[in-house]
Formats: sequence, C-alpha cells, structure tokens
Amino acid sequence: MPAQIPEPPMKDLIPGHADLARETTLLNPEPGDPGVRDSSLGGALLWPADEPWPYCAQEDHWTSGSDWRDPTEIVPGAVPMVPVLQLFARDVPGLEFPEGKDLLQLVWCALIHEQDPGPVMPRLYWRNEAEVTAGGLLTEIPGVSEGEYDEDHMPEPSTLSPTTAADYPSRHDLPGQLRETPLPDSHLIGTKVGGWPAWTQPADWPDCDSGHRMEHLLTITGDIQLGDCGGVYFFHCRRCPGLPWDWRFDCH
Ligand SMILES: [Zn+2]
Ligand SMILES: [Zn+2]
Repeated sequence: MPAQIPEPPMKDLIPGHADLARETTLLNPEPGDPGVRDSSLGGALLWPADEPWPYCAQEDHWTSGSDWRDPTEIVPGAVPMVPVLQLFARDVPGLEFPEGKDLLQLVWCALIHEQDPGPVMPRLYWRNEAEVTAGGLLTEIPGVSEGEYDEDHMPEPSTLSPTTAADYPSRHDLPGQLRETPLPDSHLIGTKVGGWPAWTQPADWPDCDSGHRMEHLLTITGDIQLGDCGGVYFFHCRRCPGLPWDWRFDCH
C-alpha cells in the first residue's frame, strides 16, 4: 500500500498566499518581575548612567515636584517617559540588530495628550549591552506618579518567552486578488517582532525621507491595554544610514 500523503496545509492551496509568509517572533509577555538584564515588556531598562532619562515636554503636562513619590506636590512640567520594551539580541535571534548593537529599548509617554489618542512620543534606542554595563547604570530612574498617567498606556511589568512562527499579512495587507478569498486565519495578533504589522485598521506603512517603504520592526498589541487603540507599530528603513524609524497606531 502506498504511504499516505499528508494533506497539504490549506495555505498552500491558495496561490500567492504562501509566498507572503514571514517569520515573526511572538514575545508572549507574562506578568512578572523582570530584571534590568532581562528582556521585558514594561520592565526596568538597562540605562547608561551618563544619559539623562527621557521626558515628554508636552505643554499641558503636570508632574510631581522635587520628589515624584510625593503626590501632594504637582506642578506643570515635563514628565518621565515609561519603559515599554527591552529586547536583548540573545532572546530574539530573529531580530537583526545594527552593527555592534545587541539591545533594543522603547519608551513612550503614558500621559493623555488631548489631541492624540494612543501612546505618544515613543523613542527607540539601539545599544551595546557591554558598553552600557562598562559605563555604569543609571540607578535613579524617575517614575510617573500614580494618577498622572493613562493606565492604558502603562504596560504591566512582564517577562517574555519569545517563540518564532510563520506570519501572514492581515486582510489590510493582502494584495487585491487575495482580499476577497477566504483564507486560513494565519495572521498573528500579538506583541511581536518582524512578520507583519497586526493592523486592526487599513494598513498605513510609513516611507522614510528618501522614499523607501519602511520595514515592520515590531508591533505592540493585545498584551497591554491601549484604550481604544488596536496597536502601536514600529518601522525602520535599513537602506538608509542612521536607521531612520517611524511609528503608527490605529484606533477603533
Ligand atoms: Zn506626554
Ligand atoms: Zn530609507
């Protein structure tokens, strides 16, 4: 009797769809107590002592006075950004780091900006772990007083257990001829690196200043509350010097 040939996965039956597969690393955050040397969502960042912690200087922000732990003294002023993501190269082999870098960090402002829904003013940092460690770490990282920030934009400290998977575009990124085709549900929603953006709204890919379509770097979604927003998406252009990057978010 001939050996039974397994049924090919359904995606292989749809011409063109299999070609759209991209490897993604799902970060799988779990609430926990990540250390400064762990990859984390919302955890403490390995921050160089000689680099000031970033602040958001939006005009209408109020912040704590001389001591951020004292809730009675609130004054107008810039507020500290909050840690969002820290990725060490050893934990995310699928992420290509720039030459000499092995640590990626992301912060944003967790306060409400009246004009802009969603987290704002994100900043990305590519670093070298050994260099940061050799120069000493910033020990006093300012916090945001409770009640000041929008809880939806404050990720709960979580450890990460990255896994790789094949990712397929959301409906919004499918080429026209596939958009009306029933497809297996193979688009991965979650906080992830690489793969396809987990858009919940029509795709909105940024171009760099030189007109290159940027690549999807990472998506943050699902694992943290983002208010009415579906996700926050980061992109970069690896064809241009200085690794220009940009971000998008979408709201329901
Ligand atoms: Zn702000
Ligand atoms: Zn470019």
